[in-house]
Amino acid sequence: MKNHATHTNRRSVRRPKIPQSIAEEVMFRAQMRCCVCGDRGDQIHHIDLDPTNNQLENLVFLCYKDHNEASIKGSLQRRLTPELLRKFRDDWYDKVKSERRPRYSAPGGDSIEIDEDRLRLTMDAMIVLEVRKALSARFWEDWETAKEVLSSLHVYVNIAGATASLAILEGLHHVSEATRYSMPGDIARQIADLVFDFLPIPSLRQKQHSVIGEAQLQLFRVGAEVADNLIYDGAVKLADLQIVFEGAKLLWQIHQFAFVNEVEALMESLEEKYNRLFSTLNRPGLQNAVRLLRLFHDQVATGVPELPELPDDLEHEVLNPKRRARHGG
Ligand SMILES: [Zn+2]
Repeated sequence: MKNHATHTNRRSVRRPKIPQSIAEEVMFRAQMRCCVCGDRGDQIHHIDLDPTNNQLENLVFLCYKDHNEASIKGSLQRRLTPELLRKFRDDWYDKVKSERRPRYSAPGGDSIEIDEDRLRLTMDAMIVLEVRKALSARFWEDWETAKEVLSSLHVYVNIAGATASLAILEGLHHVSEATRYSMPGDIARQIADLVFDFLPIPSLRQKQHSVIGEAQLQLFRVGAEVADNLIYDGAVKLADLQIVFEGAKLLWQIHQFAFVNEVEALMESLEEKYNRLFSTLNRPGLQNAVRLLRLFHDQVATGVPELPELPDDLEHEVLNPKRRARHGG
């Protein structure tokens, strides 16, 4: 007799939702980053693996990979044990907290008077120059250097204005285009995470209160182009589903933002992009890339602002991408 309910398939188990205020507190304390590796976080993990225990003490924000690592049942195979997770988390919370302390207070407590507008323009100009310099020569030396260069761009995340952000996104677009024949998955992840950091997205769940203007739309368009590059190159040139995943996640984040804020112009251009991708990828051998992209695309309409659950075979290939064999062996 068929009885699907007895299968231990986690997709068939209805997970009770973590209350939004608690979810926000966890993400705030973690600064949206994975408490283990410091990359952008994806999922809130229940340390004791009990999905109903939503105490702050039992929750930790993790990236997709570390969440997987922490979710393996059985303490013998588990690299990320509950104790280790708590250690990582508490240490990370401390770091985030100390970095949030105000940095520009003058000795003696007097505030320094500065012309904010002029400072902003000067800073943006400086950032543009620095970013151009970084992404032009050193980036291309080797992948280790590329990683360093990309990491160095993080310092501009909270200080880049619209002009600098656009320059950074265009720089990332440029490198995402030119690395298509050999890009490693972790570089793709760094690029996608950085793009997200420089997009004006305050929350994937809540409506933004200010108006989304032309300058902001421009940032989202460039961001979507980067996602497009990663998806196309990951599927067609590199046969690397991890890279497709990074691109699809970025495109989903932009899509989710446009959906929540009802940004019609952006929604339309995203639908066009998806349609073009679906028809370009409609060829033998790329079915998994298409399935993955379809899952992310359809997730927005479900109204759940979380990453889609991947079927086991797709998840396995994302975590263990089989690269296309390089010629010459
Ligand atoms: Zn991680």
